[in-house]
Amino acid sequence: MRLFTRQKNLGETAWSCSRIMRARVLRNVLAALLCLFLSSAPAVVSGHSIQAGDWLYVLDEGYSVDDVRDGDMVWQTSPWKAPNLGFTSEPYWFRLSLSENELAEGVWYLWIHNAILTEMQFFVHKRGETEPVLMLGGMRMPVYPIYVESDTQYTFYLWVKSDTALQIPAEIISDMEFLTKREQQDSLFGIFVGILFSMMLYNFVLYLTIRDNTFLLYVGHSSALLFFVCSWQGLGNAYIWNGYPTFQNMSIGLATFSVIGFSTWFCGVFLGINASNFKLNRVYWAVRDLGFVGVVVTPFIPSQWGIFSSSFLSFFAVLMVINAMFSRAKLSYRPARLFVMGWTMYVTGAFVMGLNKFGLIEVNQTTENLLLWGAVFDMVLLCIALGDKFHEERNIKIKAQEMAIKAVKREKNAKETAIAKQKQSQVALEEAARAQRNYALVLERRVKERTLELKRAQLELEHVSEQDALTNLKNRRFFIDQLESHILLCQEKKRAFAILLVDIDNFKTVNDSHGHLAGDECIRSTGKLLQEKLKREDEVVCRYGGEEFVIIMPCTSEGDAVAMAESLRSHVAKCPMLCEGQRIMVTISIGVLMVTDEVLPELADNLIAQADQALYQAKSQGRNCVCVA
Ligand code: GH3
Ligand code: MG
Ligand code: MG
Repeated sequence: MRLFTRQKNLGETAWSCSRIMRARVLRNVLAALLCLFLSSAPAVVSGHSIQAGDWLYVLDEGYSVDDVRDGDMVWQTSPWKAPNLGFTSEPYWFRLSLSENELAEGVWYLWIHNAILTEMQFFVHKRGETEPVLMLGGMRMPVYPIYVESDTQYTFYLWVKSDTALQIPAEIISDMEFLTKREQQDSLFGIFVGILFSMMLYNFVLYLTIRDNTFLLYVGHSSALLFFVCSWQGLGNAYIWNGYPTFQNMSIGLATFSVIGFSTWFCGVFLGINASNFKLNRVYWAVRDLGFVGVVVTPFIPSQWGIFSSSFLSFFAVLMVINAMFSRAKLSYRPARLFVMGWTMYVTGAFVMGLNKFGLIEVNQTTENLLLWGAVFDMVLLCIALGDKFHEERNIKIKAQEMAIKAVKREKNAKETAIAKQKQSQVALEEAARAQRNYALVLERRVKERTLELKRAQLELEHVSEQDALTNLKNRRFFIDQLESHILLCQEKKRAFAILLVDIDNFKTVNDSHGHLAGDECIRSTGKLLQEKLKREDEVVCRYGGEEFVIIMPCTSEGDAVAMAESLRSHVAKCPMLCEGQRIMVTISIGVLMVTDEVLPELADNLIAQADQALYQAKSQGRNCVCVA
């Protein structure tokens, strides 16, 4: 039976089982069990069959076989084929009468299918004589041979004592039937023990492989169950511990207590009951513990006490398990469904057995075998349920692991994405910073350029404002500024300077005879001639206005100033100029004013007026000459 198939798709060695396959296996197992159960039903008895009411019985109050045979006893009738007096430790006399030739001549057997009776005696009364019959099978299989003769009336007297239930499931069968039935019973027992034992072994091996304690509990539960069924059915007495009378006595109590302990334990663990999910949790586990206490105590108490107390406790145990099953097992969960099915079979079997043993129902093959087969069903279904549960739990674990792996992967991906984004944004930031730096440089450069342009413009402006447009010489404003600064220098550092005021002689006639444009050109050329002649850098020719020029000669003496004036005059007088294609010769008159710290403080205008006075003097002296103020 291959319950499990190897699953490789997860990339790991995992035991799995397909749902369809498990369902098929379960169906086949149940069908096989049902066939076995049906085949164990009582076979049709040929020859003599005991009918309900055939057996009569009476309580033994110390009677001998002669007393019950001859005395005036009030015999009671059993409503069933097999008299069932329930739990009683009292001995009873049973009587079964057969009419003449009811049994064919030959060897017959009275076979009592009860291996847990404590004591038994059998007497056959025929033709006025009562003889005791020797038991053949021993107490494990009480069989009495009867040698039947024709035309003889037989009455059987059976004295029985029991420590448990007093039941006489007996039949009278022939030689051949006895052998066949024994074989049948033996093989049935073999099958039963075989199934239970293999389940135990299988689960024990599973426990060794998987190390899940539930499997060990199952082994405990199934062993206890096997023990229980063997004890109650008399199979143990008949086949297993037939040589140990002490153990025979205590076996029923021991088995019942151990089944209480192990079954409640296994059931509780399987259903996962605890204080939070089951109200009677404490009572439940107390029942289990009492079961184990019973196991320990039973060997030391009379077997009757053990049987009664364990039967009493089993009633609570069954109630507890049923209660736990109802409150915990969810029928939508397959393992729980199988569990409930198995337990229902087993509990039904146990219940029927209880009714049977308490003498409430008839003892026959069905009521006897129900517990046996209930136990088999229970163990097989529980085994499958356990496998299922283990499988489901493992699947859940694998799923949880897969989900955890997925979650970790997702988290890793998210982190990687976040890191990538962070890098991107860092790159973008760096780019922005670089762009900003570049822009700042551009701005700086532009500002520098603009500043330079501005300075240049400012200089140009200053230059323009100090320059004469016609001659490109310094203008009157520049001259005034220079004059004022020279006045200050002269005052502070006593540096004498000279002012040379120059005027072109008779310029009106130049204009008149050569035109204004030639006049302009003439003014420009005169300026150049004057500048050419000056040697020092700080001696600058300024256009004072019209055809007049002015020169400041810093740090100079009167002699040098006059000499310079004379040099300028002669230079101009000698140099002809080409103005608008016309050759023009002009002369100049110069008024020289010597400015020393002695004459100061004077206003600039006064100094100019004085220089102009000297010029006027030169004009009046006939022009083309130099006059000193
Ligand atoms: P003097 O020898 O007494 O100085 O005689 P002058 O003719 O030079 O003197 P006046 O001051 O009477 O005449 C100056 C003339 O110069 C008058 C004016 O028309 C002319 N003039 C003044 N500025 C300019 C100029 O920028 N260009 C031209 N072409 N002529 C000018
Ligand atoms: Mg003039
Ligand atoms: Mg003039």
